[in-house]
Amino acid sequence: MKYKPDAIFNKITDIKPEFFKQNNIKGIILDVDNTLITLDGEKLIGIDDWVEKIKSSGLKIYIASNTLKHKRVRNIANELKIDYTFWSLKPLKRGLIQGKKYLKLPSNEIAEIGDQYFTDVIGAKRMKMFSILTKPISPEKTSFGRLKRKLEKKVLSKIK
Ligand SMILES: [Mg+2]
Repeated sequence: MKYKPDAIFNKITDIKPEFFKQNNIKGIILDVDNTLITLDGEKLIGIDDWVEKIKSSGLKIYIASNTLKHKRVRNIANELKIDYTFWSLKPLKRGLIQGKKYLKLPSNEIAEIGDQYFTDVIGAKRMKMFSILTKPISPEKTSFGRLKRKLEKKVLSKIK
């Protein structure tokens, strides 16, 4: 397997601003579903404070969600005061290119953070960005979702 996350965390709020500095990261692109909010739309506890800390430490920040539900992304983006795009098509490059343009940084100074190997990690690595994989913050709701997680587990156990 060619693509590997550069780091794995339990949840996004576990990542300290210093971690980004140590890895020469100056900008962050965030996934939404199961990274910032649960599949039921509930905010991850502590995410407001985390975003505040990230911003005040001088890091730039952007949201690139794969969902087609514009309102869902707009709501959380507005709450956290972060600019965003939806329908990113990760692991394709559309949303991540948009994020890179917004951040005005080279790929190697950008970290993409998300909960899915097949979209977030592969997308980030195709863009030559730093990839941070977090654990999904809520259980899958569909049989397709559960199958996806099974495959993901298999791949991750092989590349570790
Ligand atoms: Mg996600």
